[in-house]
Amino acid sequence: DQLAEARRAAASPLFADLAGDIGVSFEFFPPKSEKMEAQLWDTFHTLEPLAPSFVSVTYGAGGSTRERTHATVARIAATSSVAPAAHLTCVEASRAEIDEVAQAYWDAGVRHIVALRGDMPGGAPYRAHPDGYANAIELVAGLKAVAPFDISVAAYPEVHPDADCPQTDLDNLKRKLDAGGTRAITQFFFSPDAFLRFRDAAAAAGIEAPIIPGILPVSNVSQTRRMAGMCGTQIPAWMVSLFDGLDDHPAARQLVAATIAAEMCRRLYAGGVRDFHFYTLNRAELSYAICHLLGLRPKVVPATEEAA
Ligand code: FAD
Repeated sequence: DQLAEARRAAASPLFADLAGDIGVSFEFFPPKSEKMEAQLWDTFHTLEPLAPSFVSVTYGAGGSTRERTHATVARIAATSSVAPAAHLTCVEASRAEIDEVAQAYWDAGVRHIVALRGDMPGGAPYRAHPDGYANAIELVAGLKAVAPFDISVAAYPEVHPDADCPQTDLDNLKRKLDAGGTRAITQFFFSPDAFLRFRDAAAAAGIEAPIIPGILPVSNVSQTRRMAGMCGTQIPAWMVSLFDGLDDHPAARQLVAATIAAEMCRRLYAGGVRDFHFYTLNRAELSYAICHLLGLRPKVVPATEEAA
């Protein structure tokens, strides 16, 4: 009966059902200063033994980090056994320029691109470059014409702000995958239910490619609110209130952050999710702790050479 069931659930050890049978990937941004660079490589080397399926490096608005993204991705390709993925956007660049960047990645041994439309600098409404790729669908097809890249595309469980309705957004996702995308990685979200509904709607729309949830372990709500405002993600009231009163307690904030994200991942796991993409913000500890709670343990990795 219901009471016995509740007792059984309460008696089972926490996180016991998590067997570590998961795949993870980690996202970084290219560092701006020497100090940030040291932090990134520290983070990378802490997470590397978790044997991620790939690690990705973002591309700044309007291609502003073109060289830094390339340098970071190329260093991972040259010094680690972990496969790097380079983010690339269509913003403010001609097709020829983008094809050249893609070719340089291929020549550096990079085989995986996260293909994105991107956003205008300063938050202006999106305008395609006159000689550029108009959107991510065109970019995916263009990249496939350069080389046989493995391509990831973006998906939005809570609907992209530019989409007329959830169905248009889903059609757009299907077209990106049909153009040559192998998997979709989602924007961050805080409702496991929203993700699972989106995954089911995608399957019903005939999407067979894996849809990997993007997990943002939040320890700073006001920063997250700014990011969420631009991408249509809801910040739930319960989350805001969990961080209330913790402004002067950074250690407690980290513990709360790990608890929230681990609980969300646990629910996704219960819903059948086995692959997780972490937005690390170039910090290892939260992602590492959550992976650990999900049962993932370090594997022996081949020694990595440090780049000069
Ligand atoms: P698209 O899929 O081309 O389109 C965006 C939306 O516009 C679609 O969802 C669709 O609903 C709507 N749309 C497009 N065309 C039409 C049409 N004809 N009619 C109606 N609606 C239409 N940004 C960066 O600048 N650098 C990064 O490194 C980066 N990394 C990201 C990684 C991930 C995993 C995610 C989820 C996002 C990332 N972004 C990044 C943000 C991304 O660039 C923005 O969300 C951008 O606004 C949309 O990019 P997209 O590739 O999803 O665009």
